[in-house]
Amino acid sequence: MSRVYNFSAGPAVMPEEVLKEAAAEMLDYNGTGMSVMEMSHRSAAYQKIIDEAEQDLRDLMNIPDNYKVLFIQGGGHVQFSMVPMNLFVKGTGDYIITGQWAKKAWQEAKKYGNAKAIASSEDRTFSYIPDCSDLPVDEDADYVYICLNNTIYGTVFHELPNTKGKDLVADISSCFLSEPLDVTKFGILWGGVQKNVGPAGLAIAIVREDLIREDLDPKVPVMLKYSTYANSGSLYNTPPTYNIYMCGKVFKWLKKQGGLEAMKKRNEEKAAILYDYLDSSSLFHGTVEKKDRSLMNVPFVTDSKELNDLFVKEAEAAGFVNLKGHRSVGGMRASLYNAMPKEGVEALVAFMKDFGAPNLGGVAEI
Ligand SMILES: *Cc1c(COP(=O)(O)O)cnc(C)c1O
Repeated sequence: MSRVYNFSAGPAVMPEEVLKEAAAEMLDYNGTGMSVMEMSHRSAAYQKIIDEAEQDLRDLMNIPDNYKVLFIQGGGHVQFSMVPMNLFVKGTGDYIITGQWAKKAWQEAKKYGNAKAIASSEDRTFSYIPDCSDLPVDEDADYVYICLNNTIYGTVFHELPNTKGKDLVADISSCFLSEPLDVTKFGILWGGVQKNVGPAGLAIAIVREDLIREDLDPKVPVMLKYSTYANSGSLYNTPPTYNIYMCGKVFKWLKKQGGLEAMKKRNEEKAAILYDYLDSSSLFHGTVEKKDRSLMNVPFVTDSKELNDLFVKEAEAAGFVNLKGHRSVGGMRASLYNAMPKEGVEALVAFMKDFGAPNLGGVAEI
């Protein structure tokens, strides 16, 4: 068996220790004589798994008691619909468009009310975060929506927007648990787990209790109401039991690593290795404004499409996989999620330097 360095944006690399533990427990989980995927979601053994997962996430993120933690099927796109369906009271939502995921969320919300784009960085291919200090937030807005870390473009909000008192809703899919966040600054934080937490198909929503309403339009499907999950401990129907178990294992792994402060430090170190090299290279360069750079997703290019393609091909043959950029941006993208070891980034940069030598007419980059 040999493992590659997997730079995929998602589904993405998982901690090897977690995968090994899951493998060891595959046939007999904790003396139950069965795999977690064979287990009733109503069993005491499973209740313990989901309870511990929730508690460990609360500990890691320091989630206050007046926020619910909800495990919801359907991944990110279901949240694009659930947010407006559950939050529209006056029927206006203000969206800050910093990439394709924010744009899709906005387009979905338009079906349910007056969803407005109050800022955008589309004019320069989403390569920066717009100034959000004094936006025309609607007096009637039920919320302001952002995508905190833009997976495709490699930007992040280093500062939260001034919402002028409105509740902030954030998609944190690709920076989930990568560094500490002050939960109290948000009305809802939600993330699809397949970027930085666990297996695809599950989202975790952290929702302030007063935003969980029962009195929605009676046509809203029961599985699309936050209250359904809040009232049942995310066990209204059969949840994605195995995914939740895997997320729980990752939470325990994160605690063992020292929690989110330690992850932040490590993620900063890893990203600096790649960004420092990109800033000094004459062959490769980053594509976004330096002040808005993401720690998690690092897009980069050469000046030639042929060289980009050659790089992706040779990198893959050398065991650095999924470096091809998103189809809407081109070039390359390295995702440096929590489970990517520092050695992986160091090895990638060494490979990039070696690649540069013959392709720069024999001039080696140091
Ligand atoms: C991947 C991603 C999504 C989409 O998630 P799905 O689970 O595929 O629906 C949404 N938002 C962000 C920030 C993402 O990175």
